[in-house]
Amino acid sequence: MTLKKNFIAGEWIDGQGGIANINPSDTSDLIAEYAQAGPAQLEDAVQAARQAFPAWSTGSIQARSEILDRIGQAILDRRAELGALLAREEGKTLPEAIGEVARAGQIFKYFAGEVLQLRGELQPSVRPGLDVSVTREPLGVIGLITPWNFPIAIPAWKIAPALAYGNCVVFKPAELVPGSAHALAEIIVEAGVPAGVFNLVMGPGRVVGDALVNHPQVDAISFTGSQNTGRNIAAAATARMAKIQLEMGGKNPLVVLDDADLNTAVECAVNGAFFSTGQRCTASSRLIVTAGMHDRFVEAVSERMKQLVVDHALKDGTHIGPVVDERQLNQDLDYIRIGSEEGAHLLCGGERIERETPGFFLTPALFTETHSEMRINREEIFGPVASVIRADDYDHALALANDTVFGLSAGIVTQSLKHATHFKRFSQAGMVMVNVPTAGVDYHVPFGGRKGSSYGAREQGSYAREFYTTVKTAYTLA
Ligand code: NDP
Repeated sequence: MTLKKNFIAGEWIDGQGGIANINPSDTSDLIAEYAQAGPAQLEDAVQAARQAFPAWSTGSIQARSEILDRIGQAILDRRAELGALLAREEGKTLPEAIGEVARAGQIFKYFAGEVLQLRGELQPSVRPGLDVSVTREPLGVIGLITPWNFPIAIPAWKIAPALAYGNCVVFKPAELVPGSAHALAEIIVEAGVPAGVFNLVMGPGRVVGDALVNHPQVDAISFTGSQNTGRNIAAAATARMAKIQLEMGGKNPLVVLDDADLNTAVECAVNGAFFSTGQRCTASSRLIVTAGMHDRFVEAVSERMKQLVVDHALKDGTHIGPVVDERQLNQDLDYIRIGSEEGAHLLCGGERIERETPGFFLTPALFTETHSEMRINREEIFGPVASVIRADDYDHALALANDTVFGLSAGIVTQSLKHATHFKRFSQAGMVMVNVPTAGVDYHVPFGGRKGSSYGAREQGSYAREFYTTVKTAYTLA
């Protein structure tokens, strides 16, 4: 089987052995083997990035913009092929995967434009005879650590701004999805990024990720993943005063009020909770429904769930692909058992099922008669599992929506402008959705959350510059 290599200092490099990338829709399908970087390769990658930084950070912004545009175009041109690879290694359906790839292409194109938009300010000083300028400069070497659930879009929304603003990158993708990361690296290399500016190091988080976070010559870390890993990274990186940005989990509420349009509510709930196998940080795992709508909503959602086809991610007609791996499947099944033991009613789904190919297939699960104190409503499950919580009225629903340590995305389905406006203001989430699913965002505006979901500057759009640049204030005697 082909061994796909790390990319360090402008060369494709072997590692310390390799791991197999297995298709979760068909565990007999081995995609390829991927080289695992060790501490020596990580060191080489950091040193290469350091050496490349002076030229890249002061070079032509026209050249940077053209490289990013070429990367974006190549991704868009190859969206069908890359989408098939992504669906094969991660398990989201082919249309979802192609959509994610297209998003990655759009992000690179967006930052090809942003390169030319970086502005400073020139102000009069409070002291006569002086001018003050405020400008932005690149940070240096940035370590990027990404999760498995968006194998190309999340790397894109970190790599593109990092390079656009003149930084060099050491990128560590999640072990479960090296295929999309490797394909993206090939495209970046073909687009003409100079040696050392971009480096790919594949390998386990506890080894390669940990070494990256603790490396004294890595100026900043942008991480997306679970809260536990994020907390450990924050402790290690802040101890050596590196700049950090963390995007972590969610326990996102979708509030459905008595006056909601029922079809809209059902589509928002089913899409938000179960599409992409519920493996989205913005998934609607808590469906908070006011009393006058509760029974109608539960019945309509469970009817709609019967139409969902769970099968091989690449098969026509599949709505929900497999869970990403055995470990995550067991976590989902554990929470389904815990929910039942806590007294929630498992209305439908939640069963491991068999299909033509051996894979990690799970029917989407809906719990009713749940309350906010239950573990299934407090902890991130990260699978196709949602709970309905009954609320007395809007105020109660808002309080329940905010009753969580997370604060990534929150949605409301209502026809009331008054309640929608109030919810937008008082929801304690970084992103609020009115009559649309909690998952699904634009790429040109900030992405991120509050409370335990995020730490540091927002990602995406022009707000990305807050993390990927540092500000300089200069005084000049006129
Ligand atoms: P993990 O936290 O397990 O892993 C995320 C990344 O961190 C992986 O690349 C992993 O490597 C790496 N890692 C693991 N341990 C360490 C360590 N000690 N030091 C440095 N790096 C380490 O998350 P998952 O991959 O399981 O992703 C799912 C999580 O991501 C969910 O909680 C989800 O909510 C969150 N997420 C958040 C998003 C957001 O924007 N808020 C978006 C998407 C997902 P490896 O896997 O190779 O071991």
